[in-house]
Amino acid sequence: METYDVAVIGGGPGGYVAAIRAGQLGLKTACIERWPAASGSDVVYGGTCLNVGCIPSKALLESSHRFEEAAEEFAAHGVKVGGVKLDLATMQKRKDKIVGELTGGIRLLLKKNKVEPIAGTARLAKIGPQCEIEIGDRKIAATNVIIATGSVSRPIPAAPVDNKMIVDNIGALAFTEVPKRLCVIGAGVIGLELGSVWRRLGSEVVILEAMPEFLAATDSALAKAALREFTRQGLKISMGCKVDQAQVAGKKVKVSWSDGGKQHSDSFDRLIVAVGRIACTEGLGATEAGLKIDAAGRIEVDEHCRTAHANVYAIGDVVRGPMLAHKAEEEGVMVAELIAGQKPEVEYDCIPWVIYTHPEIAWVGRTEAQLKEAGVAYRAGSFPFIANGRAKGIGDTVGMVKILAEKESDRVVGVHMLGGNASDMIAEAVLAMEFGASAEDIARTCHAHPTLSEAVKEAALAVDGRAIHS
Ligand code: FAD
Ligand code: NAD
Repeated sequence: METYDVAVIGGGPGGYVAAIRAGQLGLKTACIERWPAASGSDVVYGGTCLNVGCIPSKALLESSHRFEEAAEEFAAHGVKVGGVKLDLATMQKRKDKIVGELTGGIRLLLKKNKVEPIAGTARLAKIGPQCEIEIGDRKIAATNVIIATGSVSRPIPAAPVDNKMIVDNIGALAFTEVPKRLCVIGAGVIGLELGSVWRRLGSEVVILEAMPEFLAATDSALAKAALREFTRQGLKISMGCKVDQAQVAGKKVKVSWSDGGKQHSDSFDRLIVAVGRIACTEGLGATEAGLKIDAAGRIEVDEHCRTAHANVYAIGDVVRGPMLAHKAEEEGVMVAELIAGQKPEVEYDCIPWVIYTHPEIAWVGRTEAQLKEAGVAYRAGSFPFIANGRAKGIGDTVGMVKILAEKESDRVVGVHMLGGNASDMIAEAVLAMEFGASAEDIARTCHAHPTLSEAVKEAALAVDGRAIHS
């Protein structure tokens, strides 16, 4: 039986990054993956993120944004482009090409770092000082195991997914024509991102959300401003909805729901179900091997991603914490370094969130509501993009930057942004928080003019009531 220092199960952003780092550290490493390639003869690496998540959704978000800009905004810049037409097949091909290049790139990176790729579903056959893993007919042994099996979309009985008419993220990224009327269940990250894609391309989009509050995890002022803007753009978002049933009838999907005691029923061309994701342990044999699973179906781990067995780790979407690719990657690096005897940590308070709508929503750290609940005294400073010269030049003036700092120490404890390019701008805030910066530190840092990032400096000045431009 072939023996490895490290066997990584799953080749998404958690697994492939852990495998590469283990390879860099000189550990004999295998990475097992089962995602079927389109050709059907092999598997592809990259997991949800590269195949049906982060990357294809951002490719379509970019293309659809450009389509809408060309059709509706170029004229205001004095650029005349009459008769803008959509070529969805080309848009989808471009997306597929990007996915193919990136997944192919992971293969090369594994090779470069001497990681052995193994195709198939891994089952934990034995956990002990030397673990055993079955992949079909093959059995391998490993001194350390890293489980990175990710997540799948959460099904709901009211709307069974067939990925043709009623779809999850996989079907919603692959439509070959623009649905005239599109319903989305769930006004979360996927609902808003993919709802935006199809609205920009011409769908009438109705989003049904169960919770009474829009984006409850986000700073409430930003969530309110975002809801106003998305509604202005044409997304029809209804809160407090209970979906009773969705049924395919010929070429339509009939959806029945209620809100505030009122009953509704409507027909759509497609329905997207985006109500969250659940950990994937299917086929892994986790419980039989002796691993603990929590009430939400995730593998139980400590703050270093260790299970109750010292040489078995689990990372990424299959464990507690936000289901984000960069969180999975950080955990992958941490675990590989722990196995190599180093002392790494993941700073869980400094993991940024981004929703890639337009404007984008990005934040790191705590919201005002969370600080109030924890009894932390703080000062807040915000700066609107309408007062930022670069935002005016770009024509992207909706939104603001808000910085929250502890009252006593001035240490930054939360940064919230709604605006164009917030996904990149949030990096400055993450770095500031990682370095334990104060609002004063940011306020005294020279920011290039004219840039959107000046809004971050101004928000930091506003914490002390001394913003210059508002
Ligand atoms: P996954 O990426 O799910 O990878 C797990 C891998 O394990 C899969 O390839 C699977 O085939 C394999 N596997 C499972 N079981 C076995 C087994 N028994 N044997 C062998 N292989 C197995 N996050 C962001 O940070 N930014 C974004 O913009 C973003 N956009 C998203 C958009 C969409 C539409 C979706 C659905 C998700 C998005 N996410 C985004 C979330 C992100 O994709 C996940 O957080 C990330 O992929 C988790 O990485 P992972 O390695 O834990 O799991
Ligand atoms: P989500 O948790 O972001 O949103 C799901 C929404 O559905 C919530 O608002 C929830 O209240 C609502 N909901 C739940 N059950 C419902 C029901 N029966 N009827 C109506 N509404 C219901 O989940 P998602 O949008 O499916 O995305 C899954 C995860 O994937 C995200 O939480 C995130 O971790 C990851 N993701 C990240 C990004 C990004 O980083 N930009 C993009 C897409 C996905």
